[in-house]
Amino acid sequence: MDLTIKKMQRYLKEKYKKAKPEDMKNTKRYFLKLIEEVGELAEAIRKEQRMEENNIKGTIEEELSDVLYYILMIANTYDIDLDTCFRLKEELNSVRYGFTLKIDDIQEDDAK
Ligand SMILES: [Mg+2]
Repeated sequence: MDLTIKKMQRYLKEKYKKAKPEDMKNTKRYFLKLIEEVGELAEAIRKEQRMEENNIKGTIEEELSDVLYYILMIANTYDIDLDTCFRLKEELNSVRYGFTLKIDDIQEDDAK
């Protein structure tokens, strides 16, 4: 089953609602963690540490996942629907930079 931004946000919301409801609004903590993970990503990129055979520890793949995780968590603390926001922002970018490709021009199975 494909993973979507919407599903990732819902998964994290459910996970924290049950386990750590007090963390659901801790934007500051998630923002600081995001910056921490961006630093780890910088190091992984500098060292060109790529994942091999699903061994993700200390790799660019791991740190990108961590950065995404905290972006999703920050969005959740504000109840922001990132799917909708990304679409709206891409519409603005299309006008600004003159791109004609729309998100819905991409089919789910295009990458397979
Ligand atoms: Mg990390």
